[in-house]
Amino acid sequence: MLNLPLAVLERRDEFMHRHIGPDEDEVASMLAALGLDSLDQLMNEAVPAGIRLAAPLPLGPPVPEQEALARLRAMAAKNRVQRSLIGLGYYGTYLPKVILRNVLENPGWYTAYTPYQAEIAQGRLEALSNWQQMVIDLSGLELANASLLDEATAAAEAMSMARRVSASPSRAFFVDAGVFPQTQDVLKTRAKYFGFDLIFGAPEEAGKHAVFGALLQYPDRHGEVRDLTGIIAGLKSRDAITAVATDLMALVLLKSPGAMGADIALGSAQRFGLPLGFGGPHAAFFAVRDEYKRAVPGRIIGVSIDARGKPALRMALQTREQHIRREKATSNICTSQVLLANLAGLYAVWHGPEGLRSIALRIHRLAALFAAGMQAAGYSLLTRYYFDTLDIATGDRTASLHAAAGDLGYNLRRVSENALGVSFDETSSREDLAALFQLFGVAADPEALDIPASGLPADSLRSDPILRHPVFNRHRTEHKMLRYLKRLQNRDLALDHSMIPLGSCTMKLTATSEMLALGWPEFADLHPYAPREQALGYLEMMNGLAGHLRAITGFPAISLQPNSGALGEYAGLVLIRRYHEARGETHRDVCLIPRSAHGTNPASAAMCGLQVVTVDCDERGNIDISDLEAKAGQYRDRLAALMITYPSTHGVFEAAVKEICAAVHRRGGQVYMDGANLNAQLGLTSPAALGADVCHINLHKTFCIPHGGGGPGMGPIALASHLAPYMPDHAIQPTGASDRPNAGQGAVAATPYGSPSILTISWMYITMMGGAGLARATRVAILNANYLATRLAPLYPVLYTGERGRVAHECIFDIRPIKAASGIGEVDIAKRLMDYGFHAPTVSFPVPGTLMVEPTESESKDELDRFVAALSRIREEIDQVERGVWPADDNPLKRAPHTQADVIDAEWNRPYNREEAVFPLAYVRENKFWPSVNRIDEVYGDRHLCFGCLPASEASSD
Ligand SMILES: *Cc1c(COP(=O)(O)O)cnc(C)c1O
Repeated sequence: MLNLPLAVLERRDEFMHRHIGPDEDEVASMLAALGLDSLDQLMNEAVPAGIRLAAPLPLGPPVPEQEALARLRAMAAKNRVQRSLIGLGYYGTYLPKVILRNVLENPGWYTAYTPYQAEIAQGRLEALSNWQQMVIDLSGLELANASLLDEATAAAEAMSMARRVSASPSRAFFVDAGVFPQTQDVLKTRAKYFGFDLIFGAPEEAGKHAVFGALLQYPDRHGEVRDLTGIIAGLKSRDAITAVATDLMALVLLKSPGAMGADIALGSAQRFGLPLGFGGPHAAFFAVRDEYKRAVPGRIIGVSIDARGKPALRMALQTREQHIRREKATSNICTSQVLLANLAGLYAVWHGPEGLRSIALRIHRLAALFAAGMQAAGYSLLTRYYFDTLDIATGDRTASLHAAAGDLGYNLRRVSENALGVSFDETSSREDLAALFQLFGVAADPEALDIPASGLPADSLRSDPILRHPVFNRHRTEHKMLRYLKRLQNRDLALDHSMIPLGSCTMKLTATSEMLALGWPEFADLHPYAPREQALGYLEMMNGLAGHLRAITGFPAISLQPNSGALGEYAGLVLIRRYHEARGETHRDVCLIPRSAHGTNPASAAMCGLQVVTVDCDERGNIDISDLEAKAGQYRDRLAALMITYPSTHGVFEAAVKEICAAVHRRGGQVYMDGANLNAQLGLTSPAALGADVCHINLHKTFCIPHGGGGPGMGPIALASHLAPYMPDHAIQPTGASDRPNAGQGAVAATPYGSPSILTISWMYITMMGGAGLARATRVAILNANYLATRLAPLYPVLYTGERGRVAHECIFDIRPIKAASGIGEVDIAKRLMDYGFHAPTVSFPVPGTLMVEPTESESKDELDRFVAALSRIREEIDQVERGVWPADDNPLKRAPHTQADVIDAEWNRPYNREEAVFPLAYVRENKFWPSVNRIDEVYGDRHLCFGCLPASEASSD
């Protein structure tokens, strides 16, 4: 033992062994439970031979953690962090360290899932309701959602919402020419496939046109602040809906969009503490008048009551909207930016109204001093009323001043050939002012420049108070804040407590070392529109990642722009439409989608102006080939695309997938593969090998970006070479290869590469795993799912399996027969699992009345066994109900989850005892997770819609 070779010792330390749960012995014993001898044997049974790749993943060997970090450090060193005064929606910020350490860097916050199981998510639901309240206060509107992906896509959502609610018959939408260029870019892409005409012009011209809606902005791209009241009234008189893009920091001082009469307010919350990250992730906000509450895209947190009548938070209304309304859904947004929204909301909690006012006033003061100095030196300002941003006429010195600023370490905005722009932010200082004065040859001494100067007329200022809610006024000391954050965290079940076996969500490990680099200043502090030569390290990292994704998907081209899976779907379908158009086949507008598809698929297709035609599934859950052939044939002249998920959302490797793709290609259609289940493909097959043309990759599923409680995510798309010329480009920062075949193609997101800072997570994962590690991860993911299927099948029927009786990386348990016999349904089981310390599997997707379980490769055998033990005991409990030992409505399942309030209840008179309620198995005693509320009444919540109400704990604490 003392003379083991170095290579052996080093292999034992490989990262894959700590990413993948089961070790060799556990794998062997799990295989034995399946009656198998080897993983190869399982793969042969689970994965059809016809789709298998012969060659291993071309990714190179695993790189040890220290070396991977060193490589990333070396890339980071190639980024040059300048002070970016470029603005355009991206500003320097300070994330308060108490929030950085305890939220952004804390797996208790970042590994949680979207709060579908609200009883074990009250912490982040409260943080989200703080966020909503903050947005409501600052926007002056009545209702805010829990975040959207970025400002540009939020503007696009506003446009489509305006069409839904406007009484005007028009198909035209007005866009203020002062709207940020990236927002205009995304609006153009979206408008085209919605069939809207965009009219661009100065805001004063808005009322001249017959439009169904308008997007205005203040402060606008030139920093100009306007009172839009009259313009909005004019639009309203013509039945047009007005959306206003704005800036939360400016709104601390300025009259709100609501006060001006706007119907919708939107924008980025980036400057509330969110690191620049070369473009993201950041949260966008979206607020509306109360009358439009049923038309809002995305999720809204509302208040309901629990079984004890106590107020409890939950997602309201649209929660499962896409799965129900499919192509008629209000939007395709699924993953949004929950972690970022929480950070921004907590930034407001920490600073409070007075703190925010000081920050905003200071920013404005710096801008005012700059304006005064520049004017004194004879420059003319092109921005009349400003908060933080000024355009300056710089004449023929524009290029040289811009370059000189760069040499001094400052990035300024190139407004035109004759003008430069400067934006101040929370991190700006007197030293910056002095440097700028030096640059522009201004003699004034900023220290002495305390002359009264303000660029804002009194009537543009806010007169109403903001953030009066106690939560924004009582966490002024770090101890109070720390304890508040901890209190919220304690209410949430995340991966730091136990497995989250959500099917289709791939809740795998995010290793700590994968999370380190996004906080390094070289990655955190780069402006998305900084000159590319300052981002060489980023570009190298992203090229490396794109190369890995090419090898994994088998496709030659990657676009990193989409910042969620659903946006990837949209981007991929846009590519397909552009491709058909370029071939003169604009009439191809039918999209085939299997009945089992995720709700985002039809919603995305509808956003691309495609007509959705549903394809049936057969009794085994596979696509019904004869129905597919019939529909592909019926629409042969109009067929644009098929959207397919592989392995299917039913958790099975369909043997006929290549045949299916060929049937679509034969009719001139393209195949879009929903890549949510890519974790089951690595090293076995690939989207290209299966016959797809384009797919998205949920980096927040397969490649370890944590779910953040509902975002961030990244949904880059991988595509065949014939589609590459149609990839999204970017109006400010061009993307694509050196020869740029995609030049001028409209963007789908605000930034060229989506949310670059979190790409470091996936880069680390793939680098440390290597091809062999990723392939093993997939094999073990399939093993884990089959192990659970086999162990649980005697208790809960497995709905679908492949031809040889195996499932893929997830499996569906059919609860319908159990419910018919006992009255106990999938929701009762989901809630009862909380008493056992587990998060529920996916409930009723893709089949109503079922539970879909995806353990991922990161769970070791003992965790799986605990889960089996829990579900086995739950099955016994169901039997007790079925046999009438416990009444149908008074048993541990219907009463689940149980809280501390239940067990101290002096009135306990239930047919089961307290111990059965909260400590149903021995392991629970050792590590009890207490749901903070009892079962939440969903119906009550939807009947008594109440948003932005007092968060429960704030009402009852202190
Ligand atoms: C998660 C998922 C999506 C949507 O991805 P987001 O990143 O949440 O937008 C689409 N399809 C399937 C099958 C999924 O599981």
